[in-house]
Amino acid sequence: MAEFVSTRSLTGETVDYQEAVLRGQAPDGGLYVPAADTRLNANEVSDLAGRPYQEVFDVVRASLIDGDIPPEEQVRITAQAYAAGKFPEAKDGNLVPVEQIGDNLYIQNLSLGPTAAFKDMALQPLAREMEYGLSETDRELIILGVSSGDTASSAEAAFKGLSRVLLFMMTPAEGMSDFQKAQIAEFSGGNVHNISIRGSFDGANALIDRIKKHPEFHDVSAINSINFGRIAAQIPYYFSGALQADNGEVDFVVPTGNFGNIYAGHRARQLGAPIRNLVAANNENDASHRAIQDGVYFRCDPQVTSSPSMDICQPRNYERLVYELLEGDGQAVRRYMRQFAETGKVALTAFGLKPSAIKEMGFDSYSSTHAERLDTIRWVYSSSGTVIDPHTADAVTAARHMDREVPTICLATALPVKFEATVREALGFVPERPERFKDVGKNGHEDGFVPMDCDSDQLMTYMREQVAASA
Ligand SMILES: *Cc1c(COP(=O)(O)O)cnc(C)c1O
Repeated sequence: MAEFVSTRSLTGETVDYQEAVLRGQAPDGGLYVPAADTRLNANEVSDLAGRPYQEVFDVVRASLIDGDIPPEEQVRITAQAYAAGKFPEAKDGNLVPVEQIGDNLYIQNLSLGPTAAFKDMALQPLAREMEYGLSETDRELIILGVSSGDTASSAEAAFKGLSRVLLFMMTPAEGMSDFQKAQIAEFSGGNVHNISIRGSFDGANALIDRIKKHPEFHDVSAINSINFGRIAAQIPYYFSGALQADNGEVDFVVPTGNFGNIYAGHRARQLGAPIRNLVAANNENDASHRAIQDGVYFRCDPQVTSSPSMDICQPRNYERLVYELLEGDGQAVRRYMRQFAETGKVALTAFGLKPSAIKEMGFDSYSSTHAERLDTIRWVYSSSGTVIDPHTADAVTAARHMDREVPTICLATALPVKFEATVREALGFVPERPERFKDVGKNGHEDGFVPMDCDSDQLMTYMREQVAASA
């Protein structure tokens, strides 16, 4: 059995993988992390080269969750989650292909799944794991999530129609592209409820914390990247990407919002993936950039940008890194997070650490502007003929500023079809849509959302009504 502990634990109490995933977040407000480090040896890693992604996934996951899901069940879940039919544009069956676009510069496309964003890579298997866990224990679950756009559609594609789950997704009223809104609206109905919040991502996140303090809703679960199941499902593609690009060590550049994807890269490195540095690419919302560069975690003022899925100023998964920096001392993590909540600013030096402590763990960062993203979209198109989306452009912008001493892989976290307005602004045209997305947005999207203020009472009233209606 694999054991998971809360970043804020005072007792060291652990839960198994299934329980960590069904809870989403620890009852003490912390996030689950593995209680012990496991590692694949060099032969086990090199054996993964050239194998179908589904197999890479099962091997890497087995080392992480150690039989908490029976192996035959895991193989079934993986086969369904990554069925070829869900990745119609994948060439030669490669679901996470790496393409070279310049000198020591690569893009790994993680966005070929059902909703054209990398979040499908995690939510497709996670929904099935949760369904399995719920039926094993004969439970039902309310999930409350907040999304800057891509999590909502990706989660809804994965959870729609599951009988044991009621899914409430909040999205900020401003910032999403028309394609994102239309895509989400299509899923409304049945067990899926979309709420449009007049407020920011971080504001909506704070609502969840408030609601969980209420006895009636204290056990609502999460499918945001605070859920370790999301992280666990994102680790395998780092192995696949590194092995596709090179036989030696690589750097990854990760478009970063809530710090979940890059934290998965960090876990992949600890598990034995040949990764040298992980580079957090921020947009103008630069909280993780500043934490990495200056050792000061500083609450930025949320700005709406052209890479809206990264418009996050309090990256929640950063707490998992803090836990590691503070050597698993839950009490110290609590102090750190409390200081952040109260003052909006914490320095690593206040905890006896060097300002460069995160860099020394093998991280680096960059924060790019709208003008840089546009320039990078043009640069990639003119040098390789590939059209990238604005989030991927944040990563490639960072890579253009690096020395690239080793192969540098930028993660492509969304297809350009999701952000056509910005692509058009950069290139003067948009690429032809993949066949399956041709009609998205044709019927408008205003009906698919329940508008609401950033108010926990309003939200609870609405949730109560829907729970009653579904009973
Ligand atoms: C969610 C998302 C990100 C940010 O990933 P995190 O795990 O939150 O850091 C980047 N790009 C796109 C397109 C996304 O949907």
